[in-house]
Amino acid sequence: MTTCKPLDSTLQQISQLQLDSSKPLVICDVDEVVLHFIAGFERYLSRNELWLDPASFALNGNVKYKESGESVDNEELRQHFADFFEQEAHRLDAIEGAAQALASLAGDTNVLMLTNLPDQYRPARIANLDDHGMPYPVIANQGPKGPAVKTIARGHQQPIVFVDDIPNYLRSVGDHCPDVHLVHFMQDERFGRHVPPLDYVSLRADNWSETHAHIDALLSG
Ligand SMILES: [Mg+2]
Repeated sequence: MTTCKPLDSTLQQISQLQLDSSKPLVICDVDEVVLHFIAGFERYLSRNELWLDPASFALNGNVKYKESGESVDNEELRQHFADFFEQEAHRLDAIEGAAQALASLAGDTNVLMLTNLPDQYRPARIANLDDHGMPYPVIANQGPKGPAVKTIARGHQQPIVFVDDIPNYLRSVGDHCPDVHLVHFMQDERFGRHVPPLDYVSLRADNWSETHAHIDALLSG
């Protein structure tokens, strides 16, 4: 278990949260959970004569040149990520049903977005979410999410649900916060097929209708 603590900028954003301690808390990832990161990344790649090969659950090694079929090396991939964020981070599409589910939950629940993102793109992300009807606080994190969730959850007596697509982040939250309910949201079957069921989550789902019903049941039970 990693014991690293969140970045100072993440801690500062957390310290500014105004959660209603009398209500449950839903902490929700953004990329591939409420916004179509992969579709946006593929738009970017296509413009650059590249494509994403869903050969495994990873981006490193799977971004390839259309012409040669060779993988882009990790150094160049880092630059493409930076360019992608500049060009697409403010206009990713919403995942079907996400905004409606969160809006419905937000009546009786604190809703909070916890996204792994360089800090400089946080305003664009907030605007992008706002455009899609998801005007919730956004915490920009880097690395494992357990330390951030532990800090957010400190002293919160009501149930907490954490939703993410990345197994390592779910595991990290489970390690740091054993009482938090974990939901594995994996809507892109091209990548989901590479991820076996996780025995430490309370649900794996590929859609918001099922996820919403499950969270409702967790929070009312
Ligand atoms: Mg994600």
